[in-house]
Amino acid sequence: MPIAENLKEIKAGMPGNVVLVAVSKTKHNALILEAYEAGQRDFGENYVQELIDKYDTLPKDIRWHFIGHLQSNKVKYIVPFVYLIHGVDSLSLLREINKQAAKQNKIIDCLLQIHIASEETKFGMDFKEAQDILNSKEFKDLNNVRVKGFMAMASNTENQEQIKNEFSALKNFSLQFPSLDVLSFGMSSDYKIAIEEGSTMVRIGSSIFGDRNYVK
Ligand SMILES: *Cc1c(COP(=O)(O)O)cnc(C)c1O
Repeated sequence: MPIAENLKEIKAGMPGNVVLVAVSKTKHNALILEAYEAGQRDFGENYVQELIDKYDTLPKDIRWHFIGHLQSNKVKYIVPFVYLIHGVDSLSLLREINKQAAKQNKIIDCLLQIHIASEETKFGMDFKEAQDILNSKEFKDLNNVRVKGFMAMASNTENQEQIKNEFSALKNFSLQFPSLDVLSFGMSSDYKIAIEEGSTMVRIGSSIFGDRNYVK
């Protein structure tokens, strides 16, 4: 199905307060523009160099979300223009974002990535670590980052009940920080469950753009 129709169908099944981030990693500009022409403005990318190339060549009113694993030495390249960094998984990364943002006179919106999946391989901190950071004195002094909420990925499983429980644990955790109300969870395979469990931001790639070709 064409991209515009995919977007329309996905949005029709979503409450109006949920933000749809179109995950465009590995997809060419022509496809991104197709989504843009259909009104899509929030796009998610996983790789810094690819994001920079796309930022340089695509319309400037796109809101670029960085959803991948961010290396500290690359923070400075995306600080000038990134809209939201989803995958902040350590205090040291948060410090680096704060430092680069201060240098560039910016305040960068971030989400803390929480590990909710059963797999070992997915990035993110546990609830305790996130709690410790948010309650720390040092965190309160990081004036150039603004943590808006949490991001997570559920287990890659067919077990809908498990996915639901993972999302709902994150939603429950988030309630102790009422001002951190952006909850980024749900992808092509599980965004409907995610929305039922309180997601406010879904990150959808293949259901919009088709399957990805992983030779990069
Ligand atoms: C690739 C990716 C997505 C989108 O995945 P789809 O299954 O294609 O919807 C969402 N979130 C993150 C962090 C990703 O890396």
